[in-house]
Amino acid sequence: MIYETNKTHDQNLKSWVESANALDTDFPIQNLPFCVFARGCTYENVRVGVAIGNFVLDVYACYECCLFDDESFTIAIAASNYCLDHSVMKKNANLQKAFRSRLVEILSADADEETQKQVKRNLIPMDEVDFYMPAHIGDYTDFYCSIFHASNVGAMFRPDNPLLPNYKFVPIGYHGRASSIVVSGTEITRPKGQNRTDPDAPPVYVSCKNLDYEMEVGFFIGKGNELGETISIEEAEEHIFGLCLVNDWSARDVQAWEYQPLGPFLAKSFATSVSPFVVTMEALAPFRTNAFARDEKDPQPLDYLSSEVNEKNGGFDITLEVYLQTEKMRDENAEPFLLSRSNTIDLYWTPAQMLTHHASNGCNLQTGDLMATGTVSGDSKDARGCLLELTWRGKEPIQLPNGEERRFLEDGDEVIMKGFCEREGFRRIGFGECRGVILPSE
Ligand code: MN
Repeated sequence: MIYETNKTHDQNLKSWVESANALDTDFPIQNLPFCVFARGCTYENVRVGVAIGNFVLDVYACYECCLFDDESFTIAIAASNYCLDHSVMKKNANLQKAFRSRLVEILSADADEETQKQVKRNLIPMDEVDFYMPAHIGDYTDFYCSIFHASNVGAMFRPDNPLLPNYKFVPIGYHGRASSIVVSGTEITRPKGQNRTDPDAPPVYVSCKNLDYEMEVGFFIGKGNELGETISIEEAEEHIFGLCLVNDWSARDVQAWEYQPLGPFLAKSFATSVSPFVVTMEALAPFRTNAFARDEKDPQPLDYLSSEVNEKNGGFDITLEVYLQTEKMRDENAEPFLLSRSNTIDLYWTPAQMLTHHASNGCNLQTGDLMATGTVSGDSKDARGCLLELTWRGKEPIQLPNGEERRFLEDGDEVIMKGFCEREGFRRIGFGECRGVILPSE
């Protein structure tokens, strides 16, 4: 099942929330991503919200005002006081569709004055709220789905054998750490770790020297599956609630030393940042594309990872941008510098294939689990989604406009990730930002 476009995607739809009609907003009425937020810093006030223009709509408060009177989703919303994963997220597509359609109704310029008045009371300016993790993430899995990223990294570490023979058959992944996933804006402490730069000397335990980011897209599991059950490729998307931006912070010097034979461990588990907004699968309907067009010489995916629908519409057209703002640039009021622009159309595997593969051994996925694509890199140099690739392991430093130079991240650097979808005939929608500033080691 893949969502089709409907009247909630009509580009002519306008909202009475004026800022939602700005052409460059990430959050027009056609988007309506979910978030978890609080006004003031008290955790007791944490609520489920929906982004619209420069505001967050307090979903539970709207429920209390009887703005959601359709019985089919009243129960779900009632449970959504402070928690997305125990309410809308785990419900089926019909409920989610009904909810989106009701949200569009009450936020549309056509809504009657009384509705507008009631809804307005529950709109909070975005700059007055703090965002929290959009879900309680029980498990986190990170894939490695860009063949360009895998080939580049492979070429650096294994020049004679860049792409391993399993790559075109298996969506490669590793189990990440859920406890250290943080929401955008959380400061990231530079990790310490074992580093062995001199092959003739023993390793040392020091501050990470080659700190990096990875530009990725994440997806949240909606409905889960029972232990021992699998999820077919045809059913896969019914289990995906929505997408967000992910920064898989990486300690490259630690990684190079520890990764064999079992893969990433402490080089990744110190922190992962996510954007606060979850863009729903339905909102993304206009921006679906075909799965990666495999080279004629490439093997086709095995049957359980293959379907006509996935091949035709399993991909996403999401433009991803990474910006860097150093401490000096902040002091000089210089604009963040664009490091790369890539797109999820370059992923070798679709989210449906990742999910189906993940559950293909009977592993149970649970509501709120996060999966990420792996670094999204394209073929061209300016589409490389991490510094490891951009500076070719530090050999080709990046020159910043103010004369500074970067091989890897330095203390005080802020990484800012953005994502958006554009297509002729539809409104542009965005993912907001995923930001993080590097603090010195403890
Ligand atoms: Mn990664």
